[in-house]
Amino acid sequence: MVKFKCTLCGVCCSQYWVPVTHLDAWRIVNYGGYDARDFLVLYKSSSYKSTFPKVLLWEDEGYLGLKRFTDGFCVFNRNKICTVHQFKPLTCRFYPFIYVTSNGRITGIEVNKNAVKVCPGLIYDNNSIDVETRSSLIQLAEIRIVERNLYARAVKEWSSEYCGRGLFKEFVDFLVEKAEVDAKTLIRRGLWIK
Ligand code: SF4
Ligand code: SF4
Repeated sequence: MVKFKCTLCGVCCSQYWVPVTHLDAWRIVNYGGYDARDFLVLYKSSSYKSTFPKVLLWEDEGYLGLKRFTDGFCVFNRNKICTVHQFKPLTCRFYPFIYVTSNGRITGIEVNKNAVKVCPGLIYDNNSIDVETRSSLIQLAEIRIVERNLYARAVKEWSSEYCGRGLFKEFVDFLVEKAEVDAKTLIRRGLWIK
């Protein structure tokens, strides 16, 4: 049986950049009291690849993500501990697993192959993922899909309003405003998670 219990080693927080939606950012702003301009950054599409919507700005084009320190650690990691754990981005909550979709529907939860022998909390034996982990990740994936769709809509609205002439700081402010509205909608629909 595949099992997972995080050992708080911090390896995943130093190896990857974390793409975020406007709602991931808003959770950190709302529950953590941070200023979104202080922790968000644009990862240029000339150097980074992502399935997230690409953002077109006056400065450049790329993907929204969390800032990192020069040693690779996420800006929210202190001494290998996530300081925003209670409301961290949904991308972080899946690791070391991934969800698989087909035509917008979830078809499975799988181990992230890149995490095998890298994440010490993962016990991987080619068997199935335990039922509890699988069902909580399916619920999370369903919400993730809704949030990603809302984020894609927000980026589209940004593009048609600013036509590549907006600055990064303006984009961040625009997203926080959109997120406030979208979060309220999700709360009403019972789809909000802290
Ligand atoms: S690499 Fe695995 S065990 Fe280490 S912090 Fe990340 S999820 Fe936890
Ligand atoms: S938000 Fe937390 S879990 Fe995610 S990369 Fe940053 S420190 Fe790690």
